[in-house]
Amino acid sequence: HKTLRLILGDQLNPSHSWYKQKDDDTLYLIAELKQETDYVKHHIQKLCAFFNAMENFATALKTAGFNVLHLTLDDTADDKDLIELLKRIADKYQCETIEYQYPDEFRLKSQLAKFKSDSSFDVIATDTEHFLLPFTEIKTRFTKNKHVTMEHFYRAMRKQFDILVDDTKPTGGKWNFDSNNRNKFSKADLACIPKPKLFNNNVKSIISRLNKHKVVYFGEIADQRLEWPTTRKQAIESLEYFCEHLLSCFGHFQDAMTDQSKNNTSLYHSRLSFALNAKILHPLYVIKRVIREYEQRPSEISLSQVEGFTRQILGWREYVRAIYWINMPDYAVKNQLKAKNTLPSYFWNSSTKMNCLSHSLKQSLETAYAHHIQRLMVIGNFCMLTGINPDDVDNWYLGVYIDAIEWVEMPNTRGMSQFADDGIIATKPYAASGNYINKMSDYCKSCQYDVKQKVGDKACPLNSLYWHFMNKHRDRLEKNPRIGMVYKNWDKQEKTLQEQTLQQAIYYLNNLEAL
Ligand code: FAD
Ligand code: SF4
Repeated sequence: HKTLRLILGDQLNPSHSWYKQKDDDTLYLIAELKQETDYVKHHIQKLCAFFNAMENFATALKTAGFNVLHLTLDDTADDKDLIELLKRIADKYQCETIEYQYPDEFRLKSQLAKFKSDSSFDVIATDTEHFLLPFTEIKTRFTKNKHVTMEHFYRAMRKQFDILVDDTKPTGGKWNFDSNNRNKFSKADLACIPKPKLFNNNVKSIISRLNKHKVVYFGEIADQRLEWPTTRKQAIESLEYFCEHLLSCFGHFQDAMTDQSKNNTSLYHSRLSFALNAKILHPLYVIKRVIREYEQRPSEISLSQVEGFTRQILGWREYVRAIYWINMPDYAVKNQLKAKNTLPSYFWNSSTKMNCLSHSLKQSLETAYAHHIQRLMVIGNFCMLTGINPDDVDNWYLGVYIDAIEWVEMPNTRGMSQFADDGIIATKPYAASGNYINKMSDYCKSCQYDVKQKVGDKACPLNSLYWHFMNKHRDRLEKNPRIGMVYKNWDKQEKTLQEQTLQQAIYYLNNLEAL
């Protein structure tokens, strides 16, 4: 009785119980598939990272003595889709049972569930053993279409997993040290940002396969080499490097942005999202390692750095996954603000005069990376203020970032950044004028627009667009006590200035391509 076990590209979890025992009758299948390159247009680095990591995982399993079939696009070119491939391989190797780990994407989960119910094979699905919140517990903590406060969820997770908790009380007396974490870089700070930990993975053969099979992609990759960690060893090196060099300032500069750091675009961020999302690293392993560093170097690493980092992984990451599953598939079509504009062409070439946007887009296209505030407050904010259709926004984010998998991309993009999800994630939109960008970055200094002006040729587009957005959605937003003040400020402004501001915004909206 033979078994075929499918390993998807984001299921590269070496500690899964599948690998606790070796069995000559079990064949592991890892396959590059056209269906996985084409569901959205991808950045070249994202395609290369997944294919490279899959190949490395297959090699590691083979070395450890497992039977592994690693198939490239060349081998699967004639298979219509994943299901056809599974049937073909199961027949070829006379496997009666097919096992898979539940996918984290609705698209793949539905495809495999249908196969499971229709198939003549014995099909068994099992947990990925990756996330901390068990899948079955999502429905006990979340309700469809209901807002759950991230902070409450996060505190419960801290207690449940005994992370930075002393006798049910938070270590250091506070659950949240966010207020210490909103600093901008000074010139002196900029001079001492450590270099990022980059790798030199040769992906030449993957790129030639993508070209041969006419996979459509975008973005850049310097010298056909990938700087992202794609093996377990590299992922651990990234984590160690983060602990040694970056953790001590992680929280402090978490929200800061700069166009003056040519050698380090990820600043004090960990660059671990790809390794985490491909399941090369386990979230608890990462959290515990970081806390150990803090315990070993208390004079150099403050609690607020470690708490800030823990909140991202134990809090936000687990939270958005739960929001995704409790609300799918309806979540994918939510568009409460009825935004319907299309993405301007500079999303594909970064050529806009707005320096904040141009820098964040250029960096995304060159490196497949932007940090949280660039994604939320620069690119996301621009899309929301200009009313871009959230389908377009989702597709762009899902394609461009190295770590973009729908379960984490969509709640962050459609929910948190676009406020399109009926307030399931955020109770108010993350809308900002140029003032916020100027407070958190040095972008405005070298911008052709003037961040202090609302109207006129040189006026920062975000200023008038912000007020236009707030006015357009006044009925919906005014009732929110956290926003009421904004309208009081607007009402205090002179009528003529109000009119000029709205006219300026309309001009910009009609000329989005020219910004
Ligand atoms: P660090 O800043 O070092 O953070 C450490 C880890 O915390 C990350 O690796 C990530 O696993 C986790 N994390 C941090 N913030 C979040 C968050 N909001 N949601 C979930 N996990 C988080 N993250 C993705 O992994 N994939 C995405 O497709 C994605 N899309 C995003 C879209 C938008 C509009 C926004 C605002 C955020 C998005 N994020 C996404 C979250 C965050 O921006 C990235 O996780 C982070 O930039 C990855 O870089 P890093 O590993 O250096 O992160
Ligand atoms: Fe961005 Fe406005 Fe600043 Fe230019 S002036 S960088 S457009 S916020």
